[in-house]
Amino acid sequence: IPVDPFDLVVIGATGDLAQRKILPGLYRRHLAGQMPPEARILGAARSDLTEAAFRAMVADALAAHVDAAKQHPAEIAAFLKRIGYVAIDVSGAAGWGALKAALRPDVVRAFYFSVAPGLFGELAERLHEHGLATPQTRIVVEKPFGRDLASARALNATLAAHFAEHQIYRIDHYLGKETVQNLMAVRFANILFEPLWNAQYIDHVQITVAEAVGVGGRGAYYDKSGAMRDMVQNHMLQLLCLIAMEPPWHFDPDAVRDEKLKVIRALQPVPAPDIVRGQYVARDPAPGGAGYLHDAGNPASRTESYIALKVHVANWRWTGTPFYLRTGKRLRARTSEIAITFKEPPHSIFDDARGWRENVLVIRLQPNEGINLKVMIKEPGPGGMRLVQVPLDMSFATALGEDGTDIPDAYERLIMDVIRGNQTLFMRGDEVEAAWAWTDPIIAAWEARGDRPQPYDAGSSGPEDALMLMHRDGRRWREIR
Ligand code: NAD
Repeated sequence: IPVDPFDLVVIGATGDLAQRKILPGLYRRHLAGQMPPEARILGAARSDLTEAAFRAMVADALAAHVDAAKQHPAEIAAFLKRIGYVAIDVSGAAGWGALKAALRPDVVRAFYFSVAPGLFGELAERLHEHGLATPQTRIVVEKPFGRDLASARALNATLAAHFAEHQIYRIDHYLGKETVQNLMAVRFANILFEPLWNAQYIDHVQITVAEAVGVGGRGAYYDKSGAMRDMVQNHMLQLLCLIAMEPPWHFDPDAVRDEKLKVIRALQPVPAPDIVRGQYVARDPAPGGAGYLHDAGNPASRTESYIALKVHVANWRWTGTPFYLRTGKRLRARTSEIAITFKEPPHSIFDDARGWRENVLVIRLQPNEGINLKVMIKEPGPGGMRLVQVPLDMSFATALGEDGTDIPDAYERLIMDVIRGNQTLFMRGDEVEAAWAWTDPIIAAWEARGDRPQPYDAGSSGPEDALMLMHRDGRRWREIR
């Protein structure tokens, strides 16, 4: 369904995120017929480029980041015609008049803040000062949203001075993933799961976001952040919220976000024994690169490139069901999944229960987005009543009869939601603050103790102690592969 006509200004349009994700994503929406002819995209950044030079840059970005099967010269040419460019300086006066002149008064107007996070507040002020923010204007704010509660509050206050909450779209691209939204459909459009969705029937939940790459060129930036701030406070807590929240009364932005906020507020403080932090090391000669300390350019760094935590949601539904979270860099494979392990049936009627395993509902975010439910059946054949576990597999690509490439990428879906004015998949200011309020004391405690992260081999499944975190509870992590 096409969206309304719009002017989308990508500020920081020459940067890595814009070139790799935002502009290729917009092209795919163009190709899908979702952009009306009047939709326009304006790049803005500090570089002094002509419109032609910027369009050439976008053409290169599409060549590099769009599937070959989707590169249709006529469509690319039509897409490039939508694109303009204005050089601006967020910290100065240059370019704002030209940007204002380029915008139309009668279409949806959105500014995508794809600049360094230190500029977010200033950028909001500039838009206001130069009269670019109309009451219908939307702003899309990238991550990270603050680095602790105080900075997130300050940023919220600055944004709130110039924009109403309904104009502010704090992006968390995990929420734009097809499977993550499907999690809500699976939970709330079926009767099958919800009656079992509580501590009485769910043994535990595992959330894994494993990356195979290291911090690479972003080392200096990452070293000031670490896995807790970079992944857990935002993406992983958002996933946890979607699993743990109560059914919203309606699929509506504030109804959903109210329920997520209640979950964040119910998170218990995490004691030291329930936290494992790690840093990757590379054995010499390193096949995939150097160790973390080298990548970070800081031989004394105590920043974690890996973290595992056991988290409790203290409410009526979840008391007794731990949520184990783990995320890290330079692990065995790139994989993100949520696995919900159900409890044993109360009584077994089978003499030979050797093949018995728990029911597990696995929600795979990458690779191969899909949902998979492991159920017990009788092993086929004449061997008597022997049990075997089989997956009920719903890979979206096969289930929907497509090759999977038509599932829109998270960024493009979320940008279209901004144009439609739908905030359901964006974080509200109070949610972000509540998440920091939980995160801050955890970080403060390990900083006060002077904890050092445990080394783990690049290409492994993470530190030994993370295995123990599960073993001591009689559970085990799913394999990363
Ligand atoms: P980048 O450094 O590659 O690009 C920054 C852009 O901002 C460039 O276009 C630059 O010209 C512009 N810019 C810098 N100073 C400016 C100023 N004073 N006035 C106007 N323009 C200015 O950064 P990036 O990696 O593209 O990241 C952009 C934002 O997205 C950051 O907030 C980052 O945290 C966030 N983000 C990036 C990624 C990623 O994969 N790159 C992922 C998640 C979030």
